[in-house]
Order: sequence, then structure tokens, then C-alpha cells
Amino acid sequence: HSKAAGRNAVRFFDPAMQARVVQRATLQRELRHGLRDGELALFGQPIVDAQAQTCGQEALLRWRHPVRGMVPPAEFIPVAEQTGLILPIGQWVLREACRVLARWAADPARAGWTLAVNLSARQLRQPDFVASVQAALADAGADPRRLKLELTESLLLHDVEDTIAKMEALASLGIQFALDDFGTGYSSLAYLKRLPLTQLKIDRSFVRDLLSDPNDAAIARTILQLAQSLEMEVVAEGVETVGQYEVLRAMGCRLFQGYHFGRPAPLEPADPPAAAPAQPAG
Ligand code: C2E
Ligand code: MG
Ligand code: MG
Ligand code: MG
Repeated sequence: HSKAAGRNAVRFFDPAMQARVVQRATLQRELRHGLRDGELALFGQPIVDAQAQTCGQEALLRWRHPVRGMVPPAEFIPVAEQTGLILPIGQWVLREACRVLARWAADPARAGWTLAVNLSARQLRQPDFVASVQAALADAGADPRRLKLELTESLLLHDVEDTIAKMEALASLGIQFALDDFGTGYSSLAYLKRLPLTQLKIDRSFVRDLLSDPNDAAIARTILQLAQSLEMEVVAEGVETVGQYEVLRAMGCRLFQGYHFGRPAPLEPADPPAAAPAQPAG
């Protein structure tokens, strides 16, 4: 180590840092190609009601990497957000989700289900976001009332007035909004009241130790009371055991999601929207 560089000097030749930069650049390039080459897939996880009947799903993105296998979103969404790739990826997710909804509408067992799509803050900041959601719905022939958009509290750190205006425009089309991972972020109750939200999702970190940690139980109960007075639904995330389900149900929770009810599994496959190839004659 060079003493002259000093403790606070930028170290240009830190090999670990350089390795991370190269790794990120590789990931970014591979992700761009993966989007182009159809390596992204939409999984769905059931959301169930108080009778444990499925009433919808949450769409969860997966990347089937040709070498690394299934890459979870936590490993590539942050990079996609930093580089702006989240915009075309988010568009793909929305359009794919709308096509799934259109298929469900034709299936009596699923016609009433909603499909929830996760949004990044950056998507909502796009000036044409409302129009692009409308186009995705119209092109697929999907019912806006079956589409739910999941936002996180971090979204409220940016231009709140613009966010509210876009949410209201989308809500007037019938689209519903859920606040994801509720309780983990910066949340002003004053904003919460102003947003056209239909649902709060209790973060799974409060559900995990619900039966053993009285603080988590108190938080879950508080969120349920808050939602009731704001006339919002609550989904408990990360329900892994029947015990968690029963305690939450006794607290008044009516919607649940977690491995106890079903793990994320591929949503229906994406056929190309183009017409089927002509059948050979004879
Ligand atoms: P999220 O929106 O909070 O999604 C729920 C996550 O919890 C999913 O992780 C799901 O697989 C996991 N989960 C569900 N039930 C259980 C359970 O019982 N136990 C445990 N331990 N985990 C459970 P996943 O699929 O890895 O997604 C992670 C995050 O990535 C999501 O968190 C969401 O923030 C983000 N994400 C996923 N798909 C998209 C997308 O299309 N766009 C954007 N912007 N973000 C996405
Ligand atoms: Mg979510
Ligand atoms: Mg969540
Ligand atoms: Mg989460």
C-alpha cells in the first residue's frame, strides 16, 4: 500500500472494486441481450382469500440465464434500475401481464382473478407511463379492473404530486394500486391518505416471527387497523405456515400470499402475438 495515497484518497486500482465494475457491466450486457432473446419469464404466485381460495396472483419476474440458470430479481433488478434497462423490461412485464389477464378472462375458473405487477419508481416517472399502460391493456384486450400495480414506499420520495396525478389517471381507468412491503420504508401517513390505494401488503419480515415476537404481532395488528380506517384491503406476504395464516385471519386479515399457499410458478407461456404459421398443404 502506498502511504502517499492517504487513507481518504480514491484508490483507482482496487482489484475487488474493478472486479465488481466488470461484473456489473457483464450483467448489464447479458440482461440487455436476455430481454432481446426472450430469456425473461413471468412467474405467478397465488394470492388467496380467507377461505384459502385463489383470487389472484402476483407476477414475479425471472431471468432464465443460459449459463447461470434461473436468476432471481434481487440480482438483476437493481442493476436494471441503475442503468435504465428497467424501462424496456418493465414494459415487457406489463404487456406480458396484460396478455395473461386476457387469457384468464376466457377461463371461467380465473375470469375474476387480478394480476399484480411490480413497478419501479423510474417507470412511474416516465411522462408517457399512463398512455403506455393503457396501450398494453388495449393491445391485449385486458380488463383494467383486473390489473393491480404494486408500488413501494420509496416511490413517495420523488415528485409526489406527479405520482398522485398519474395514479389517479390510472385509477380512473379501473386499475388498482397496492403498497408493497408496507412497514419497511419511509411512509408518511399524510401521503398514504392522499394516494388512491386499494391495498396494503404487510411485509413478510413482520409475518416471519409473528407467533413468537409480540412486536411483530403488534405491527401486523396496527397495519390491519390502519387499513380498516383508510378503507383499504390488506395482503399478508410471506405466509409459510398454517399457524401464521390462522393468527393473521384472527386479526382480521382477509388476503394472504406465501409458500404455504403456493410458490411462484410459470404463468402461461408467451406465444408470439403474430398469427400461427400456415399449415403445409395436404
Ligand atoms: P415483492 O414484490 O415483495 O415480491 C414478493 C417476494 O417474496 C417474491 O420474491 C416471492 O417469491 C417472495 N415470497 C413469496 N412468498 C414467500 C414466502 O412464503 N417466504 C419467503 N421467504 N418468500 C416469499 P422474488 O420473486 O424473488 O422477488 C423479489 C422482489 O423483486 C419483489 O418483491 C419485487 O420487489 C421485485 N420484482 C419481482 N418482479 C418484478 C418486476 O417485474 N418488476 C419490478 N420492478 N420488480 C420486481
Ligand atoms: Mg410485490
Ligand atoms: Mg412485497
Ligand atoms: Mg419484498
